[in-house]
Amino acid sequence: MSTTLISVDKLNKQYLPGQASGISDLSFDISSGQIFAIIGESGSGKSTLLKSIYGLLKPDSGTILFEGKKVKGPDEQLVPGHPQMKMVTQDFSLNIYAKVYDNIASQLSNTNVRLKESKTLAMMEQLRIAHLRNKKIVELSGGEQQRVAIARALVSDTRVLLLDEPFSQVDSLLKNQLRADIKNLVAETGVTVILVSHDPADGLFLADQLLILRAGKLQQTGTPRNVYEHPQNIYTAKLLGNAIVLNRSEADAIGIKTGKEHVVIYPEWASLNGGWNSRRFEVKEIFYKGFYEELVLERNGVEIRALQLNSTAHKKHEHVQVQLTRFLEF
Ligand code: ADP
Ligand code: MG
Repeated sequence: MSTTLISVDKLNKQYLPGQASGISDLSFDISSGQIFAIIGESGSGKSTLLKSIYGLLKPDSGTILFEGKKVKGPDEQLVPGHPQMKMVTQDFSLNIYAKVYDNIASQLSNTNVRLKESKTLAMMEQLRIAHLRNKKIVELSGGEQQRVAIARALVSDTRVLLLDEPFSQVDSLLKNQLRADIKNLVAETGVTVILVSHDPADGLFLADQLLILRAGKLQQTGTPRNVYEHPQNIYTAKLLGNAIVLNRSEADAIGIKTGKEHVVIYPEWASLNGGWNSRRFEVKEIFYKGFYEELVLERNGVEIRALQLNSTAHKKHEHVQVQLTRFLEF
């Protein structure tokens, strides 16, 4: 079983009084040795929350505990930031004219030069940047700089790695590689990662625990699968699941009776099968997505979406039988 490493309790920070601009009343726990992802749109308070956890920002109220001890705010210590945490921000904060090796080694003391060297080399191996040892930071790609920044943050026995939008500088191929590397890193070193991103895919792929933030307020926490499968509100379903939202009369038009205001359907719940409860839809549009296609299907003026892997099986304007295997009501 994992144990609680960080506890956030009723945390508030408002930049402008009387206006929602910051975070409000956040309470949650972060387990040791896990990847905890905070997902929300730009301006939802992700960086504010991350800085508060690190001790760079003084909250208006509420507490943050690290192993049961209060995390000190910037006014309570000489060097702001918890000594056992490190934050990597979008700008990486590297010494760009120094070599990769020196950027990382500079985090360690000179009292044991041999240990300093072996630790630096081990960390470079782990992040697959050993071959870049003598290059200067200015000579590296964005993805390589990212790895150096993480190595630099982790080399000094860091317990918690805080990553603020870690994939915003890298292209999609590299992004997948970096995501996988971060996963491996956590498995191998036991470091706890708190990562902030506007991209739900980062949370779904990487996280052990997910927290959805909207306008400074906590929407939902849980495992990615649980949050995705059981969103507690329409916002979360739309953010994570590319969901279609229908009102009651629209739902009725495609054969769903509900006593609630809205019905939410993920595309994968619309199955192109005949059956006793299937209904006839027209294929309005087909969007090519590479290994699959997304179909826009219409019945009585209401559109839903479906996915098909076996592309070219259906054509535009064709009629198909559709079974809705599941829907949510809000
Ligand atoms: P995110 O990282 O999710 O984009 P932030 O935590 O940076 O969001 O910001 C949350 C909200 O607080 C935004 O509305 C932002 O404009 C506001 N904000 C952030 N920093 C400050 C500041 N120093 N002064 C005033 N408002 C701020
Ligand atoms: Mg931010």
